Amino acid sequence: MNDVFTGSFTQQEPIPDEGIEAALRVLRHGRLHRYNLAPGEVGETAQLELDFAAQTGARYCLAVASGGYAMATALRALGVQPGDKVLSNAFTLAPVPGAIASLGAVPVFVGVTPALRIDLDDLAAKVATSGARVLLLSHMRGHICDMDALMAICDGAGVRVVEDCAHTMGAAWNGTASGRFGALGCFSMQTYKHVNSGEGGFLISDDADLMARAILLSGSYMLYDRHKAAPPPEVFAEIKYDVPNISGRMDNLRAAVLRPQIALLPERAAAWNARYARLEQGLRGTPGLTLIDRPALESMVASSFQALLLDWPAPAIEAALARCKVRGVELKWFGAPEPAGFTSTYRHWHYAHPGSMPATDRILAGLVDMRLPLTFSLADCDQIASILRAEIGAAWQAL
Ligand SMILES: *Cc1c(COP(=O)(O)O)cnc(C)c1O
Repeated sequence: MNDVFTGSFTQQEPIPDEGIEAALRVLRHGRLHRYNLAPGEVGETAQLELDFAAQTGARYCLAVASGGYAMATALRALGVQPGDKVLSNAFTLAPVPGAIASLGAVPVFVGVTPALRIDLDDLAAKVATSGARVLLLSHMRGHICDMDALMAICDGAGVRVVEDCAHTMGAAWNGTASGRFGALGCFSMQTYKHVNSGEGGFLISDDADLMARAILLSGSYMLYDRHKAAPPPEVFAEIKYDVPNISGRMDNLRAAVLRPQIALLPERAAAWNARYARLEQGLRGTPGLTLIDRPALESMVASSFQALLLDWPAPAIEAALARCKVRGVELKWFGAPEPAGFTSTYRHWHYAHPGSMPATDRILAGLVDMRLPLTFSLADCDQIASILRAEIGAAWQAL
């Protein structure tokens, strides 16, 4: 079989008609700024925050300009200072250490296991030795670690947790929504995530003081009473002279586009997981390819797929990727010497002065990754699996 896959790994679904109509209403009335409201109007942004708070069960929700902005704001709300160490994942994407660096703080990287979760032994060791008071935990590519064990390590040492849920919107661990374990949860609504407004981010929390700080930080111009998924005014009154305004607001146009997508999330999660399952089924038993274990307690929203070419020599991985690419299936590789596009690793973030992490390097050296947009059909997933099985199998035989 020599067929070529012709689908696009970066083509998202269109915006639902309801979102397009809501966006047109905002354009027609012209009140795009979240605080520009007609008398009695709640506004799309405040309403979006109510919707997402209800969906996650969080007491408070704030919508902002991006996922990266949400993470930096969470760290500021927790009082992280320049020079402070902040624990985070060695296996994540660049905006995560970037959020830490944006405060003048210093990332301390924690390793990854063969199941692509944060290494809890390495975390416990670095909690004990680093002096960090905060963990920015990235649920990278949707792989959620044992959250009860992680929270026990962090709570036991007084380390506050911020969850980066850029890949776990709508996911859960043991029945609790991702983002509801830490002091704050952060999400991204950038085009390549689970809902799409081009750019955008959420912060959720049950902590009134932290959320009031986050709202003031986000650029509320003392108009915090126009937030509806927010703590009461007296919480703001105590801190409003101490918190700077670092503008990064959501606007009503993007909120209008997002609201119907938030409602569709459970349905979309099922569609993503069906595609993931088809791909996994088609790849089972491929020589040289290690699939990733998904724990029973994890409810995923699998918008991407990872596997390991564990301990393959780098030239053989390059050959396998080249064979797949010729047939229309472009895999990302976390073992590449140079950062490319969205794919980089802790070794590339020189500003953080990363130490050497051999166990993590072994995993990243073999890690391949692809997006799974909802525009792919189940038949597309079967075709991709058969191409990968043939080409990776052939590269393995040639070893
Ligand atoms: C996309 C992403 C973010 C946030 O990104 P923005 O582009 O700033 O919205 C955070 N963490 C991870 C792992 C991501 O992939």
